[in-house]
Amino acid sequence: MTHDTVRVRFAPSPTGAIHVGGIRTALFNLLFARQRNGTFVLRIEDTDTERSKPESERQIFDGFHWLGLSWDEGPDIGGPCGPYRQSERTTFYTDALKKLLANGRAYPCYCTKEELEAERRAQEEHGQAPFYSGKCRNLTAEERSAHEKGGKVPIYRFASGAGTVIVEDMIRGKVEFLQEHLGDFSIARSMTEPLYNLAAVVDDAAMRITHVIRGEEHLSNTPRQMLLSHALGLTLPHFAH
Ligand code: GLU
Repeated sequence: MTHDTVRVRFAPSPTGAIHVGGIRTALFNLLFARQRNGTFVLRIEDTDTERSKPESERQIFDGFHWLGLSWDEGPDIGGPCGPYRQSERTTFYTDALKKLLANGRAYPCYCTKEELEAERRAQEEHGQAPFYSGKCRNLTAEERSAHEKGGKVPIYRFASGAGTVIVEDMIRGKVEFLQEHLGDFSIARSMTEPLYNLAAVVDDAAMRITHVIRGEEHLSNTPRQMLLSHALGLTLPHFAH
């Protein structure tokens, strides 16, 4: 195994002050990169335009500089896989979404907040974990255009399949997830507003990330990211949670 190709990333969302858990994740990535003579990338995940704040991004930079930590590629220093701020990478996500729509792995969903809320409540009452039923999955072209004509703006969902997804985690070993429990999860708010899972998958591939090392709160996102990666024909990184 060659040790010169490792590429890892720390991908904070600039929605508040940087916390110690984030610094811990960054440190693991940085040390792994340094040990393997690899590259440590800083990517700013600011697709949530309402919650992302430039001052939080500043705080992330300042906090890391104060700690004496530095990255090899990032929004402030550039690099071969830039830009490194997701708000500047919209065309990548739109292209990926178009591809998923074209190959039938994504579809527009016109359900209202109220409808989704009612669905969720019914599932909770039956002791089920909440997931989207797939109501808009098989709408005909006529039904879709009727929704559009009525002024409804869709979000976009991934069309999950059946069976299990096995995450081969470098720390936890094999972790199995049932696709039916993932449901048809949402991947974009509009054609130009990707949600976290879609943007992360597109960028991890475009930035040639080899190892995704992050907090365990993201373990349950991993099967979703694996499905998206597969549907887009991308190369999967290794995962460590
Ligand atoms: N933006 C995500 C967060 O701050 C990053 C998750 C990831 O590393 O994929 O939690």
